[in-house]
Order: sequence, then structure tokens, then C-alpha cells
Amino acid sequence: MSVFFDMSYGMYILGVMDGKRPTGCVVNTVFQITNEPCVVAVSVNHDNYTNQCIKKAGVFTVSILGESIPQQVIGTFGFKSGRDIDKFEGTPHELTPEGLPVLTENTCGYLVCRVTGSTELSTHTVFYAEVIGGVRRGGAAPMTYAYYHKVKNGKAPKTAPTYLDDSVKDAAAKPAESKWVCKICGYVYDGSEGPFEALPDSWVCPLCGAPKSEFEKQ
Ligand code: FE
Repeated sequence: MSVFFDMSYGMYILGVMDGKRPTGCVVNTVFQITNEPCVVAVSVNHDNYTNQCIKKAGVFTVSILGESIPQQVIGTFGFKSGRDIDKFEGTPHELTPEGLPVLTENTCGYLVCRVTGSTELSTHTVFYAEVIGGVRRGGAAPMTYAYYHKVKNGKAPKTAPTYLDDSVKDAAAKPAESKWVCKICGYVYDGSEGPFEALPDSWVCPLCGAPKSEFEKQ
């Protein structure tokens, strides 16, 4: 339902250890639900590797993304799986005193959370977690989900709670000129590097890293 376009959300990267290495994913559903104690609710798709890792570890972090976060970081954490790659490799990060990964650049800060309960929904687990630590870095403007869509040409992965299929999006969008769209992540080429046809074969989607051949004209 396109009415959801008018609801506001932030953008976050969850961080968790899988036993050997750090992993995580992008989410836009992190909400403070009580203050004493400070508890957040986080919705994570059953298919995400991060979901099973949080269930095993019982602790995780929430890095609050700033507007300056590179699209490549969102592409890595939002459109690839931690089963296949170490998502934190190549992204500036550190381990908290609890040994949990957090991003160190282009973020407003982070929360450290301990799971206290959860609810299984048809597609997602909603984790309830007490906030046991956190750092406010300051300086960065927090990125909203609307900013991500409008300014960064971003799209939700199919596993996001807020994912809408293209028929809904098209109904809500204005008619546009033909454009080159990534079939993997929905990124729309912005023309900043010249005509799409003239881009070198080595060019990849700045959001998800897919090759040029995964783009189609719409
Ligand atoms: Fe892409």
C-alpha cells in the first residue's frame, strides 16, 4: 500500500557475531518502545542470516546510519548475504567492549542490545532487546528511509518489512523518461558518468555491485 510512503523510518545496520566473524544487515525498522528499561523492537526477515545469528548470540548492535553513508555500504549490507561474504571487510568498523561489530564512519552512533524476547510473524522475527550500551558520535545527520529513496535512489530488498513490489511503486510514481534500472537492487542509473551505453563493461552497480549486464531499460 503506497500510504506507507508517508510513514517515517530511519536506516540502520545491525551488527552481530556469527561465532567466527562479524555479520549484519540493513534494517529500517528499529523503534524505541519503552524507556525504563530502555527497550527497542527490531524486525528482521527469517531469510536473513543476521536473524539466526541474533537468535544464537542474544546480543547485537544497531549502527545509526548518517546521510553520508556510501551506497556501496548499503548495497553490501542490504543486498548480499553474510552466509557468502564477510560484510564488514572493507567497511570501517570496530568491536565494542562486548566484542560486537559497529560501523565507525558515516554513522551517528550505535546501540548495544541484549535480546529479552521475540515474536515470530509470518515473514519476520520481531526482537525485543534491552539497550545495554551505546555511543552518540554526533556530527552526521541521521538518514531517513525517505532520504534513502529520494536522494540515493534506493530500493528496499525483498526481505524488508517495507518492501513494495513494482506495481505498487509504479502506481505511486510519476511517469518518467526511459531509464536504466538494476534488476538486482532497483538502483536507477543517474547519468553522472555519461550515457549508460558508453559505460565500460567493468562498471558495476554502485548500490549492489551487480555487473552492467544486470541492468535493463525501462
Ligand atoms: Fe544493483
